[in-house]
Amino acid sequence: MKVSIIAVGTELLFGQTVNTNATYLSENLNHMGFDVMYHFVVGDNPQRLKEKLADAFSDTDIVLLTGGLGPTQDDLTKEMVAEYMGVEMYLDQRVVDDLRDFFRKRGGNMAENNFKQAYLPVGCTPLYNASGTAPGFALSRNGKTAICFPGPPRELKWLWEHGARQYLEQLTDKKMYYRIIRTIGIGESDLEMLLMPLIDGQSDPTIATYAKEGECTLRVASQRKDSDDARKACDEMMARIMELAGKYIYSTDDEDLNEVVVRMLKDKGVLISSAESCTGGGFASSITDIAGASSVLHSSYVTYSIDAKVKLGVPEDIISEYGVVSRETAVSMAEALKNVSGADLCISITGYAGPEADPGHDAGEAFIGYVYKNHKAAVRVLTNRNDRRWNRNYFILRMMRAVYMLLSDRADEIE
Ligand code: ATP
Repeated sequence: MKVSIIAVGTELLFGQTVNTNATYLSENLNHMGFDVMYHFVVGDNPQRLKEKLADAFSDTDIVLLTGGLGPTQDDLTKEMVAEYMGVEMYLDQRVVDDLRDFFRKRGGNMAENNFKQAYLPVGCTPLYNASGTAPGFALSRNGKTAICFPGPPRELKWLWEHGARQYLEQLTDKKMYYRIIRTIGIGESDLEMLLMPLIDGQSDPTIATYAKEGECTLRVASQRKDSDDARKACDEMMARIMELAGKYIYSTDDEDLNEVVVRMLKDKGVLISSAESCTGGGFASSITDIAGASSVLHSSYVTYSIDAKVKLGVPEDIISEYGVVSRETAVSMAEALKNVSGADLCISITGYAGPEADPGHDAGEAFIGYVYKNHKAAVRVLTNRNDRRWNRNYFILRMMRAVYMLLSDRADEIE
């Protein structure tokens, strides 16, 4: 079924508020198997909202609206929807009671204009709002459905989980099952080429590739009348994807690489330490993002200056002979870290996050060094970008990937 989303609010057009509601709804609708066709943004203007409603309904069966449900005079979304659907408004006693209760508990009186929020279109399914004051609602007439949500994202999410999603489920007789596969070490176009025999002519399950920063994600989805059939179809497709691209896949459950790495470190009882220069501790921070990191992370040293590297234990002549950003310095940092921390797996990085680099070097160049079991080496990373933020994030991902490969006994594939 085809869906449009209309976000209402002049602040969205001014760029003061990011339209995260549309992103949230789209993502969830997509996962349920609905086809989101359009996103519209309209200011607080009844005439233009009416026109957009007509536009949206001319091509889609369902229109989700967010914002403009509040008590003020410019909050006109539900009035416009009721008018478009040709129904009157009624005063919903439960909303009145909830509002009175809400204001009484806060020790204040309810302003007269708050009653405006208690009017809903006749024949709608109210979406009572326990996380705020403005209720949402769903209204279906003549094969068309409008669902209205308040603007604050927290309230929208609450109403989505407590009524809207369930309402939408009733409108479709198809059940959606999907899996998100995460990969590293392969670009989107190469992955697509690899999976072309499966992607070509696909109808169900569908396979979609998405490029994220430095990695690529696959979504396998099936929509069937029976949810077990959908699951089975996805599982079969996953097995075929594994055959073709298994070596690039690190999660079949939409986990981030740091989650997978922390789990592997825990499972294997491996203690890790990092010595970081251009990432400024970002690798260790990414490890500590995951609950339970304390059982796997021994220490992290941010050895940004040459002096700090030397104090860690890197011989000065290595730095003067090969340079501070070099394979030799990276290995030496990992070795020195091993001596200082005694951790099982020691990983280091030295590089240029950019936008500047020393003469003879490029921004986005780094060396990742590691010492683990009998492996002691460093790899060169070159991003060809001078975007500092991007480079740092990418370096962290590549460090994480090196650790993943070491823990998977695939050290020869570290690049
Ligand atoms: P209220 O009852 O708070 O008046 P409302 O339904 O009238 O709710 P708005 O007044 O349009 O909603 O927006 C309230 C707040 O919600 C805005 O200040 C903004 O921060 C946030 N908001 C509105 N629309 C969106 C959107 N599309 N995406 C993200 N945030 C939004």
